[in-house]
Amino acid sequence: MEPVRTCLGCRQRAPRSSLVRVVARDGRAVVDAAVRLPGRGAWVHPDSGCIENAIRRKAFGRALRVTDLVTSDIDEWAEKTMDN
Ligand SMILES: [Zn+2]
Repeated sequence: MEPVRTCLGCRQRAPRSSLVRVVARDGRAVVDAAVRLPGRGAWVHPDSGCIENAIRRKAFGRALRVTDLVTSDIDEWAEKTMDN
């Protein structure tokens, strides 16, 4: 069975393949599209609403246990992805 994760934006549980993995690299949240980066991961729908909600609630920093996590990369990624 496929693993299930909770989206940080909407708090819904969803199959891992429908979510995007986010990890912390040098204090910045980055998208781990290939799901290969080591360490703690956070999961979110590739949906601007979910991503913005997670950023607004500082959910990435909490989930990844990084204080003052920089989320601008994720924000940009969301904007680019949603425009397509
Ligand atoms: Zn979501």
